[in-house]
Amino acid sequence: MRVIIIGAVAAGTSAATEIRRNDKNAEIIVYEKDKFISYAGCGMPFYISNEFNDFNGLVPRDAGFFKTKRNIDILTEHEVLSIDSKTKTVTVKNIKDGEVFEDNYDKLVIATGATSKVPEIKGTGRNHVFLLRNINDMNRIKSFIEKEAPRKAVIIGSGFIGMEMCEGFVNLGMDVTIIARSSLSKGIDKDMSVFIERYLEEKGIKVYTNTTTQEITENGVILGNGSLAEADIVLLAAGIKPNTELAKQIGVELGINDSIKVDKNMRTNVDDVYSCGDCIEVYNTITGKPMYRPLGSTANKTGTIAGSNITGRNDEFMGVLGTGIYRIFDMTVGQTGLSEEEAKKQGFNVVVTIDEKMNKPEYLGGRPIIIKAVADKDTNTLLGAQVIGYEGVDKRLDVLVTAITLKIKPENLIHLDLSYSPPYSIPRDPVYYTGIKLR
Ligand code: FAD
Repeated sequence: MRVIIIGAVAAGTSAATEIRRNDKNAEIIVYEKDKFISYAGCGMPFYISNEFNDFNGLVPRDAGFFKTKRNIDILTEHEVLSIDSKTKTVTVKNIKDGEVFEDNYDKLVIATGATSKVPEIKGTGRNHVFLLRNINDMNRIKSFIEKEAPRKAVIIGSGFIGMEMCEGFVNLGMDVTIIARSSLSKGIDKDMSVFIERYLEEKGIKVYTNTTTQEITENGVILGNGSLAEADIVLLAAGIKPNTELAKQIGVELGINDSIKVDKNMRTNVDDVYSCGDCIEVYNTITGKPMYRPLGSTANKTGTIAGSNITGRNDEFMGVLGTGIYRIFDMTVGQTGLSEEEAKKQGFNVVVTIDEKMNKPEYLGGRPIIIKAVADKDTNTLLGAQVIGYEGVDKRLDVLVTAITLKIKPENLIHLDLSYSPPYSIPRDPVYYTGIKLR
């Protein structure tokens, strides 16, 4: 069996590795148009802000590693220009010398990922305006900061990348302004995002919510109301769009945001063509409906599932809750499942609880942790949760993820035998109180 994979970051390399795990004889060829492969994109904000300085930690593997350790051929700086699904061939361009050639496959995996969206405003091409999607973007930002020492930053977008970079820019000594089209942090209800907004303002960050932008000038960003947010550096963190041009050419069915529709085995509607990672549509575990939720956690998982099914197993993807978490200074914001707003839109008979407790005893430096839980009154099931606090948000969030995934009744949260010792929690964990409130 000869498998061609397009894209070599999270999904493509996960698929390749799984194929090799299950099939020692398969020929596995991965084409990647970039120089860098299999890197930890999620670590880029922390590298830019000098939280760590080991570039090799971020990009730990090269094509040589995959060849010697896994007998997988990764050809970097090779762009797949087109696919012919009838003859099962791909046309590839070697970017280094311009050579164009054809290659043939028995199975094809499209793991082409996504590209940053550029807002349709004037001035996005200016030298001090950046995107952050890959290692090249990261290097550009880092060297601009080193050379130009910007003092003022504007971030357009308040998703996790915008928020992580907000902390990064502040730590590099900049005054930061965040501009969000709606409330802060998509997926977090307004009554929770106000805690984030207040915290950012305490840290000296200017936050503009429900604000549009008109133009990026040499000195900053002109807002919808005509005022100027000053900036020597501007980061566009306004979301991403899936790379699905190749798929479209061969009639692969597309879904939300033009992402690739796959079945639970990561098969597209075209014979022997699979897809995985940030270019695919996933589905929501609670509603069963399709959604576009591109994340590294899911890219790795769906890559492995694609590889597994290509080698004859029958591993099924079980959907996502859309869980996300990020750190901003010493605050952590996490969210899973449906927000109250989304649950209402979906027609659930929503019941909500918001509760603030200490993450551990005050005598050991306990700080507040706020849990908002959303449940469905009719079926008595949990639909989602949002957790904001300092230490220990990840633990509470993942307990709630598990509870939602396993369809635990809200009142049964009080019966979970959660760990307790003063450095970690209080005798009755904050999650316990969520159960009490929802009984
Ligand atoms: P991509 O990473 O987009 O890789 C696709 C590759 O395909 C690209 O290298 C591209 O060059 C290549 N390609 C495309 N077209 C072609 C072609 N025609 N020929 C050859 N090659 C092609 N996720 C989390 O879960 N948690 C986090 O904390 C988190 N933090 C993040 C922070 C940042 C700053 C960023 C940018 C992302 C973060 N993510 C996070 C998201 C995560 O990095 C992505 O979900 C993941 O990289 C997706 O992997 P992928 O392989 O599907 O796609």
